[in-house]
Amino acid sequence: MTDTRQKMPKAISPLPIGSTIGILGGGQLGRMLAMAAANLGMKTHIYCPEPGSPAFDVSLFHTVASYDDMQALAQFARNVDVVTYEFENVPAETARRISGITRLAPGEKPLRIAQDRLLEKQFLQSIDIPIAPHRPVTDISDFQAALQAIGTPCVLKTARLGYDGKGQRIVKNLKNAETAFGELAGVELVLEAFIPFEKEISIVIARDEAGNCVVFEPSENVHKNHILATASVPAAINKHTFDMAISNATKIANALNYVGVLAVEYFVTGTGDTQQLLVNEIAPRVHNSGHWSQDVCPVDQFGQHIRAICNWPLGDTKRLADVVMRNLIGDEINTFTNNLQPNEHPHIYGKSEPRKGRKMGHINAIFPKSAQTP
Ligand code: AMP
Repeated sequence: MTDTRQKMPKAISPLPIGSTIGILGGGQLGRMLAMAAANLGMKTHIYCPEPGSPAFDVSLFHTVASYDDMQALAQFARNVDVVTYEFENVPAETARRISGITRLAPGEKPLRIAQDRLLEKQFLQSIDIPIAPHRPVTDISDFQAALQAIGTPCVLKTARLGYDGKGQRIVKNLKNAETAFGELAGVELVLEAFIPFEKEISIVIARDEAGNCVVFEPSENVHKNHILATASVPAAINKHTFDMAISNATKIANALNYVGVLAVEYFVTGTGDTQQLLVNEIAPRVHNSGHWSQDVCPVDQFGQHIRAICNWPLGDTKRLADVVMRNLIGDEINTFTNNLQPNEHPHIYGKSEPRKGRKMGHINAIFPKSAQTP
């Protein structure tokens, strides 16, 4: 008789308290993950190339080394019980090196997909998730053909390494098309239809090893100068849109066999009953638009991510109040205390230099719970 137990996937037992979680990246997300880990009795080891990174202040161990230093990576991986990451541009080789030594959660596949807009779009289409019309562009003739097919206005984006609006140009008409192409050409690009959205929303979902999914409510997001300015919950969306945001995020997390917290950003088009959802992008990590959860949910996105990657049962994400998260960008860090209200809860990242466009902290403003969630 064959022993079928051999064929079952190896069950991972909960990581015991006192274990060490390795985190690739030492920015504010790494810092807040390390604080959440400490609350659950875990130690953290931050791996980051920049000395003096914000997460070092709150973590017992850190390594300052580049992401292609294979020796330093191997030593780091051997000293921790699981590795996670706070940004999606972890080089593929880095992820592979770590996975060969210890558990990486989320794994290599979500990283590979989220790093490349074209792969991401192919993946989303393969599981029937609606996205903006688009075409890959490698040279000027592709670009001209894509312009013909998509029309203007449209948005030209680098396939890789874009964030906060970097690596993208809006093409308003054929006249500025050439300039946009000239500015971004030389790397793989994607031309996307410009979506005249009514609003942008996002959702943060957690999935554990066993496939259980728990979502946070969708937030309504406003960007200024391509940087997230506010995330408000509840989002003003109808029940159908609310349900679709959850079901699409669940479908994505399941298709990736995801472990940890994942964010899905959407464009909402149309109003009232004609609202429709298109996925803009996914982020395989905790996300700025989920920071509101820190002050109004029993378990926030950081605690939930740590629970998921440690194979602890996922926590309750029910929202207990209305909330508006606003980012403190650049110089705003110098004045926010002047008029801080009792219902406003600041979370400050400990960065020394308030450069223009730099995220220095955020404030969650809490209000009594209003309308029922759709
Ligand atoms: P991304 O880097 O793709 O998340 O884009 C940053 C922001 O640019 C989005 O949150 C939108 O506000 C805007 N944007 C990106 N792509 C489009 C599009 N196809 N149509 C309209 N606005 C877009």
